[in-house]
Order: sequence, then C-alpha cells, then structure tokens
Amino acid sequence: MNIFNAQESNVQCYANNFPVVFSSAKGCWLNTREGERYLDFLAGAGALNYGHNNPVLKKALMDYIDQDGLTHGLDMHSEAKAAFLENLKQYILTPRGLDYKVQFTGPTGTNAVEAALKLARKVKGRQNIVAFTNGFHGVSYGALAATGNQHHRGGAGMALSGVTRLPYEGYADLDGLTLFETMLTDNSSGLDKPAAVILETVQGEGGLNVASNAWLQRLSALCQRHDILLIVDDIQAGCGRTGTFFSFEPAGIKPDMVTLSKSIGGYGSPMAIVLLKPELDLWLPGEHNGTFRGNNHAFITAAAAIEAYWHNDEFEQHIHARAEQLNATLKKLLKQYPAVFEKMKGRGLMQGIACHEGEFAGAIGKLCFQNGMIIETAGPNDEVLKFFCPLTISEAELEKGLHIFEQAVAEF
Ligand code: PLP
Repeated sequence: MNIFNAQESNVQCYANNFPVVFSSAKGCWLNTREGERYLDFLAGAGALNYGHNNPVLKKALMDYIDQDGLTHGLDMHSEAKAAFLENLKQYILTPRGLDYKVQFTGPTGTNAVEAALKLARKVKGRQNIVAFTNGFHGVSYGALAATGNQHHRGGAGMALSGVTRLPYEGYADLDGLTLFETMLTDNSSGLDKPAAVILETVQGEGGLNVASNAWLQRLSALCQRHDILLIVDDIQAGCGRTGTFFSFEPAGIKPDMVTLSKSIGGYGSPMAIVLLKPELDLWLPGEHNGTFRGNNHAFITAAAAIEAYWHNDEFEQHIHARAEQLNATLKKLLKQYPAVFEKMKGRGLMQGIACHEGEFAGAIGKLCFQNGMIIETAGPNDEVLKFFCPLTISEAELEKGLHIFEQAVAEF
C-alpha cells in the first residue's frame, strides 16, 4: 500500500501532520510496517489512558465477542451495560460519596456536552449558560457556543449565542468570579441568569490552565447560592488524567453534572455519558439519544478498565509517581532553556510546558517525531507542548520519552 495515496488523491479533507502510516500499537508504542516505532505522547487526545490494546481490556473484549455478546443495544438492558453501571457505582461513585444517574449519549464527548446543556436549560427553564475563556467543549452548535477559541467557533459559519463567557482563573489577571457575582446581583448588569456554568477544571485544548481548589470551591458555592447548575466537563481531564478519577476531587466539590467520554470506554472505543444528580433526571424517552448510545463493546471494556485500575489506589499512586517524574524534567528544562520555555502548565499526567512562541513548540514537536515520539500542542497559539502519554506508562518508557524530548530541545 502506498501510504500517501489517500492524501495525494485528496480523499481526506485534511490530513494529520505525521508523515507515516501506523499499522499497529501496543501500550505506549505506535508501529509502522517499516519497523519504525514511536512513543505515543498524544494517546488519542486522552482516549487511550490505559494504553493501546491494553491486554486486560483486550481479553475482556475478545472473550465477550467469542461468546457472541450483544454488540449494539440502543437503550436495551444488557449484561455489558449492567457490568459497567455496577463497576462505576462500586469502584468510582460510592467510594467518593457521589450519587449520580447515568445518561448514555451519542458516541462522542460533544454529544455528552450537548445533553448536559440541554438538560440544564430544561430543568431550570433558563437559556443562558456561563462558560469560560479558553474552554473547549466540542464542535456542534451548542457545545461550540460554550467553546472559547475563535478558530473553532468560526467553523459554525454563523453567530453562536446563548452563552456568556467569563474569565477563567488567571486569565489576564481578571477575577471572573467576583465579576460573575456582581453581575448576578446587580440588575443593571443585564446578565440573563444562567441555567448552568460549564467548565473544565484543567483546560485541555485551552493550554493546560488549572483552576485552583479555592477557585472551584468559590464557583461551586456561588452556583448553589444562586440556583445555577454546575457542570464539570471531565471529558479530557477525567478518568485519572489529572491524578484522581475525577479532576474535581481535590477541590471536594460535587458538580450537578459531569460529562465523560474519551477514556471512559477504556479501549479507545466511542462512548460518552453524562452523570447527573438524580433529581435532575427530567428526560423523556427519546428526548436526547443517538444510535450508538448502546455500544456494548465499549461497556465491556469500560467495566473492565474500572475494575482493573480503580479497585484500589495503586493506579493513582502510579500516576502520581509518573507525574512527579515528568514534573522534575520539565522543571529542569524550564531553567535550562529560559529563551525557549516560559512556564510549566497542568497537573498530574495532564502536564506540559509553554514556549514563548507557538512556532517553537511546533518545531520541537517535529524534532520529537523525527526522534521517535509523538507529541502535540495546545493553547490559543499552540504554544504549549502537551505530554499526554498513556497513564499506564512505565518509569523507563517515560524516561525514554523525556530523553527524546530533551534531545529535540537541544537540537532546536
Ligand atoms: N470537552 C472537552 C473538555 C474536550 O477536550 C473535548 C475534546 O477534545 C470535547 C469536549 C469534545 O469531545 P469529542 O471530540 O469526543 O466530541
């Protein structure tokens, strides 16, 4: 197969910038037929927290397929769905003192965000939603309206409405929450009282900006005081990426709704859900659904992932250890190359380093690729190099990736 045929014949709308064709992948490694190997520090943009073809999840899926398990079931009850719900409750929700119902939505994160926004508007009977600068929530109209980046918003081809955007913590040194409270209490501000606030506690596409625990607690209290729903979009920061299963755990808040996708399916298969406080379940059958909401293969691997990785705190400890390892190297590089790097960003294995210029980050990423590592950028100017390895990465593999990165920076 000529690997560039598809691009040469212009079949694909836009192609990725990695000029190879991958044929297989295992754990943290991507392979080409020519025998080239690349360490994966992109991990499907967070959809592969447990690595490629994770053997535990693969076995669960293969066993299920071997038994001709139900593949697709819309809203039907199934053993696979029951296993996922049971494991979610037993290993994730109950130990964290969380009580949520689960809504299965269409297959992507965007769909879960749409569902959460629609439900908030329905429950509160109000239209406005508050979102934050640099937030990313998806690309369909409702989710896109809540997304900050103008480049993404431009894809709509029309004005997007129904969202008031406030400064995220640290944005231009503005205090968004004081502003929010003032606008809510002052009639002359003209703010339409929102049904909900939606945010990422660590902004993935927005450049790994972290909201502090104190800021999140303030926001949560403000929402409660003013009868506004709090939606945490944990599609990228959830499923262990920041060091705990849910990104908001360290803040001790209990959002009214949580959106999950990407790694909730475990094996990289499409799955998206909304966790919602039971009293919010005002959905009528069929009001928000999607053909692939009953992806039983994803339920099987989702159930297996929760059982294998979240039955005790070993995996969290592993993530913390790798996060510290990454942090130490980034700290060293920041000191060593002050003309290239501006600051460190993120938390857990959702960390990165911001360059002074987006072009620097792009060039370093290309050098990493030439040396056998895939890494991408985030942030308004693509200035942040984002270390998104599978969470299952070993100490030696992370060391290898960091070595490739250091080499690339030295060559730059
Ligand atoms: N929300 C967040 C925080 C995301 O990072 C993303 C995707 O990157 C989405 C929503 C949209 O998810 P999807 O691309 O699966 O539709």
